[in-house]
Amino acid sequence: MKIGVVIIFLSLTFFLEFLFPLFQARSKRMRHALINLTFGVFNAFLVGFLFSSLTVFISQWSELNHFGLLHWMNASPLFSGCIAFILFDVWMYVWHRINHRVPFFWAFHRMHHTDLSVDSTTAFRFHTGEIVLSSLMRLAVIPLIGINLNVLMLYEICLQPIIILHHSNLKIPENWDRAFRFLIVTPNMHRVHHSQIREETNSNYASIFSLWDRLGKTFQKRSEFKTLVFGLPEFTLKSSQSFFGMVKTPFFS
Ligand SMILES: [Zn+2]
Ligand SMILES: [Zn+2]
Repeated sequence: MKIGVVIIFLSLTFFLEFLFPLFQARSKRMRHALINLTFGVFNAFLVGFLFSSLTVFISQWSELNHFGLLHWMNASPLFSGCIAFILFDVWMYVWHRINHRVPFFWAFHRMHHTDLSVDSTTAFRFHTGEIVLSSLMRLAVIPLIGINLNVLMLYEICLQPIIILHHSNLKIPENWDRAFRFLIVTPNMHRVHHSQIREETNSNYASIFSLWDRLGKTFQKRSEFKTLVFGLPEFTLKSSQSFFGMVKTPFFS
């Protein structure tokens, strides 16, 4: 189901980006998409192969042994499900901040930030090293929260359209964006996170709910987007934008 949601939503957003782009006249859009999506497809297969059975096992183990915050609370399934969903999004925010703060994690995460033409396909541009590290951390977080497998799947299904949308190159009227970002992370909010200006890169870390950036005092706004430059200054060369250049991003600068 997650794959179906991704294919439909990504195709639709990719098509709409041709019609209503914020940044126009981007060349080699298909090549850029192909490289980003190659990482996405490879990472999805790897996670499926290495981590899906482990995730099921850990989640069932925590349920059978009543291990984890939500099992200790003993609340109704609906209430625990909502709390688990929210707590998992808090974890995503914390993990993203750790990725920016700790040099070892940043070495892998920065590949997501080297994109000079952020669009819907950037939602899948993650270094395999980062995906493995975050999947390992999840194996610890899942039993600590005591998140149910169905809630985890629901979280993933909700996350995909939101991350595709907030990376998109769609021109969204500011009043629409403001109304949506009251609750969720929007394109105008996440674009700031992909800016080359360091203070902006280190802001707007949230994945689904924008509230965590407001609470964590990491929320930043921009009134003007035409002057926004994407990427990282040390990775603008053509060689660092190629597939193998991207693979080498954690190891060279
Ligand atoms: Zn980031
Ligand atoms: Zn991003």
